[in-house]
Amino acid sequence: RPRVLSGIQPTAGSFHLGNYLGAVRQWVALQESHDAFYMVVDLHAITVPQDPAELRANTRLAVAQLLAAGLDPERCTLFVQSHVPEHAQLGWIMNCLTGFGEASRMTQFKDKSAKQGADRATVGLFTYPVLQVADILLYQADQVPVGEDQRQHIELTRDLAERFNGRYGQTFTVPAPYILKETGKIFDLQDPAVKMSKSASTPKGLVNLLDDPKATAKKVRSAVTDTDTVIRFDPEKKPGVSNLLGIYSTLTGTAVADLEQKYEGQGYGALKTDLAEVMVEFVTPFRTRTQEYLDDPETLDSLLAKGAEKARAVAAETLAQTYDRMGLLPAK
Ligand code: ATP
Ligand code: MG
Repeated sequence: RPRVLSGIQPTAGSFHLGNYLGAVRQWVALQESHDAFYMVVDLHAITVPQDPAELRANTRLAVAQLLAAGLDPERCTLFVQSHVPEHAQLGWIMNCLTGFGEASRMTQFKDKSAKQGADRATVGLFTYPVLQVADILLYQADQVPVGEDQRQHIELTRDLAERFNGRYGQTFTVPAPYILKETGKIFDLQDPAVKMSKSASTPKGLVNLLDDPKATAKKVRSAVTDTDTVIRFDPEKKPGVSNLLGIYSTLTGTAVADLEQKYEGQGYGALKTDLAEVMVEFVTPFRTRTQEYLDDPETLDSLLAKGAEKARAVAAETLAQTYDRMGLLPAK
C-alpha cells in the first residue's frame, strides 16, 4: 500500500469548509486504499502565539473533528505532532539543508508575516515549511493530500529530499502532492478571490463546520456572486458562483453540469437557498458527532497514545538513518 501523510493545525477551534473539502475528505477516502498517517500539527500552531489552555482544548477538538469526519484509528495512524519528538529533530536537520533564499520564497510565509509585521512574525513561522518537509519525509510518504495552498511546500519537500539523497545516498521517498482540482481551493464566500482560511477570512466569508447551522445557512445565502444571473461554472469570470457550484457538487455527489442544468433559468437565490440546506444537513450531524467524541477525552487521549506509538516506530527509524548518513556520531 502506498503511504500518505497529512496534517491540520489545531488553531481557531472549528475546521472550515475549505479544510474539509480540500483535505480531510480525501484523508477519509485514502485510509481505505493507503497506509495513512494523519496528525494534528500543534508545533505548527505555535508559530503564532497561542493561549496554552486553548491550544490544549483545540488539539482535542481537532482530533474529535477528524473522527467525526470519518477517520478510523483502526484504519489509519492518527496522532499529535508533538507526541513524536522526531518531527522537531528532523526539522532541525532540514533547516540545515535549506537555503535562506529558498525559504524566503515561500509565499505562505510572505503572506502571513506581512500581516503581522517583521518583528512580530517569528523565526518559527519563517521555517515552518521546513518543519513540514520533515513531517512528510519522516514517514517516507508517497503522497500528501492537501489543498492547493500547500503545493509550494510539497515542491520544497521534493527538492530537499532529492538534495539529501544526492548528497548522502538514497534515504527519503520523494513525495507527490495529492490535490483535487475541484476542491483544492475553496474560496471565501464574501471574497471569492481569496482562499477560505482559519487565520485570514472575513467572518462572514468563513464557513466553520462547528458554527450554529442557522448562521452557516445565512452565510451561504448571503454569499457574494456577481451582477449577472446565469448559473454557470466558470472560475475565471464567475468565481463566486463557481465556488458555490463546486461546494454543492462535492457535498451532494452531483456533477456540476447537472447542477447547471437544474438551475437553468433560475436566479442565484434558488441555488443559494438549496445549498444552504445541503450545508445544514452536512454540518448538523458533524457537530453532534464531534461533541460525542469530545465528551470522552479519556478515549481520545488513549487512541492518540496508540497513534503516537505507531507513528514513532516509523519516524525513529527514518531519523536514525538520517543521522547516520550525515555522520552524527551514534550514542553508545
Ligand atoms: P491558516 O490560515 O492558519 O494557515 P488554514 O485554513 O490554511 O489555516 P490549515 O490547518 O493550515 O488551515 O490547513 C489544513 C489543510 O486544509 C491543508 O491541507 C490546507 O491545504 C487545506 N486548506 C486550507 N484552506 C483551504 C481552502 N480554502 N481550500 C482547500 N483546502 C484548504
Ligand atoms: Mg494553512
